[in-house]
Amino acid sequence: MQIENAKVATIDYTLTDDKGEILDTSEEDGPLNYLHGYGNVVPGLENALEGKTVGDSIQATLPPAEGYGEHDEKLVEVLPRNKFPDGEIEVGMRFHGQSHGARRVLTVVAVDETKVTVDGNHPLAGKILKFDVTVRGVRDATEEELEHGHVHDGDGHHHHDHDDHDHDHDHDDEDEDEDEDEDDGDTEGETAPEGEAEKK
Ligand SMILES: [Zn+2]
Repeated sequence: MQIENAKVATIDYTLTDDKGEILDTSEEDGPLNYLHGYGNVVPGLENALEGKTVGDSIQATLPPAEGYGEHDEKLVEVLPRNKFPDGEIEVGMRFHGQSHGARRVLTVVAVDETKVTVDGNHPLAGKILKFDVTVRGVRDATEEELEHGHVHDGDGHHHHDHDDHDHDHDHDDEDEDEDEDEDDGDTEGETAPEGEAEKK
């Protein structure tokens, strides 16, 4: 069976940057299961794995546009310290928040007594990504997985939070994110941290 739209692929991978530094590897958490064709992995990786089958290995070097996008300087912002929850704030902490009209994960990149600098870009935005991948499995997706647009095995929980967004699998709330944005419709350009993101 080949990897194609609506298949679930299981892959071992090592991701390095263009200097050879390891950014992520399945050796830490085990192989990754993902639903192919649904944007669950970066576009360049999805393209590189199209048509591959169990046992195939690929190497792919992706420019930012095929990875997590370019680093957008306007998403780096200095905010007043008092906009954040009480407690210690350290570089590397992540907060959910509204930024430029979208809900983002804001990573603290600098902090002093009165100001906190956050970066709303994905941590790998702007980076050249080098993937070394071996395909371990390919199977058909279930109907439920296709409805949800992602894989359900692997973590053993039907209800799961992803790094970048909370999500409760309630199909009646499909436009929940849009509603949230409407609530904050007047805050475009005014970045507002809401609470600490789950630690990775
Ligand atoms: Zn789901």
